[in-house]
Amino acid sequence: MDKSDLMDKIVALCKRRGFIYPGSEIYGGLANTYDYGPAGAELLRNIRNLWWDTFVHKRDDIVGLDASLISHQEIWKASGHTAGFADALIDCKNCKLRIRADHLIEGFLESLDEETRKTLISTHTTTEKQNLADFKNALKTNKVEGFSLSSFDGLILYLQIKCPNCEKFDWTSVRKFNLLFPVNLGIVEGDQSLAYLRGETAQGMFTNFKNVVDSTRVKLPFGIAQLGKSFRNEITPGNSVFRTLEFEQGEIEYFFDPDESNWEKLFEDWKNEMFNFVTKTLGVNKENLRWREHDEKERSFYSKKTEDLEYKFPFGFKELWGIAYRTDYDLKQHMKFSNKDLSIIDPQSGKKIMPHVIEPAVGINRMLLMVLADSYLESRDRIVLNLNPKLAPYKAAVFPLLANKPELVEKAKGIYKDLRKSFVATYDGRGNIGKRYFAQDEIGTPFCITVDFETLENDTVTIRDRDTTKQKRIKIENLQKHILGKLN
Ligand code: ATP
Repeated sequence: MDKSDLMDKIVALCKRRGFIYPGSEIYGGLANTYDYGPAGAELLRNIRNLWWDTFVHKRDDIVGLDASLISHQEIWKASGHTAGFADALIDCKNCKLRIRADHLIEGFLESLDEETRKTLISTHTTTEKQNLADFKNALKTNKVEGFSLSSFDGLILYLQIKCPNCEKFDWTSVRKFNLLFPVNLGIVEGDQSLAYLRGETAQGMFTNFKNVVDSTRVKLPFGIAQLGKSFRNEITPGNSVFRTLEFEQGEIEYFFDPDESNWEKLFEDWKNEMFNFVTKTLGVNKENLRWREHDEKERSFYSKKTEDLEYKFPFGFKELWGIAYRTDYDLKQHMKFSNKDLSIIDPQSGKKIMPHVIEPAVGINRMLLMVLADSYLESRDRIVLNLNPKLAPYKAAVFPLLANKPELVEKAKGIYKDLRKSFVATYDGRGNIGKRYFAQDEIGTPFCITVDFETLENDTVTIRDRDTTKQKRIKIENLQKHILGKLN
């Protein structure tokens, strides 16, 4: 299947089956916002719960946090976001398209064949050293993150990259655009009324570091984890929920004493945890994943090492989950800006410790898009989401064979209500059985249960397996056990 075709098909299925709708749709839509329908809300919740369960409930060394979305302007000054959290944007003067310069260039580079690439390298003649190095690097890696504005301008000009919308070459120069969403608070006067919607959940862990240490029994090394919305004023090329204005992040700040713990080992351990979560817990195919290390240019100046776990989305390998060794930069910045001591004292030795931190940070919505892409299957006459049953929005769907036979409807509704006590189930009495199977396959429901006339005689139903499409008869009293067995 053509890859861009696949993305269109996923987007259409999401709308058709109630996973994802365009935001504010009845008012003409609002760019880069999406709403999650009944099936999408369940899927999102399942991913979120598995993440929390794995990294908070099942670990002795990590505690949870739920910090405010609106936060003090000083937090974002200290973290460097008000000064440096910006995208480089460029506008097409002809059709008014606004696009991220890095996305424009990377999209163009990805479309080049090897021959053109070689010719471009050998014929490039610039006198500006920086641009030449950037240029060669970009052609080698297809990546331009961290390049200067003048390097972006130089590359777009030299490569004569046209507007992907109108095909004209009529650009403004590249300029910076801050991603933070300012908000004005009614309860405070003047300059102090300015606050920000958080641009990442991570800062909540740093600003509450002392609170957590003082109010719990954590001991280094330990982590603070948070799941919640973040906001970024992003310009995006429209790959559904891959990049949106508001999105949910799952971030962990794992604090350790650099004299006691080996950061390289912790980093590798965390990489394994991340990979296992994606492949084993979510059930994503290993072949669609790869690690990519950031080079010095791309990496933040305070980070000693950063890697991205990338997933092969229908629009190419893209970041799913980042991991960075951020040293003690964040805590020190907040100490400086708040004048509060955020170091901790080792209770045994009395030693004063400035903890260092490793941060695995993932987008829950990006994970959702990944599991949809990874489980989308077309086989013969049906489309199936072969989702890991743990992720499926509904674990079972219950149908009466005929919706106009009250005795079948009553029996089916009774079974549905019973199953709902143990897991999320759904009931469908519309159309014929074939159409109901078709719909549930597209939603990814692992089991369909049909109540027929035989049910009324001997309390058995048919249960159909989504993946094999095989049906078998089973006693109603064994249904719950059978389904729960497949879920665990
Ligand atoms: P990108 O390079 O894709 O912009 P990032 O490096 O800025 O991402 P981080 O700040 O490290 O991202 O955030 C951690 C995770 O949050 C990312 O790996 C991604 O999964 C998710 N994420 C970041 N920005 C968005 C967004 N605008 N929409 C959806 N998810 C996002």
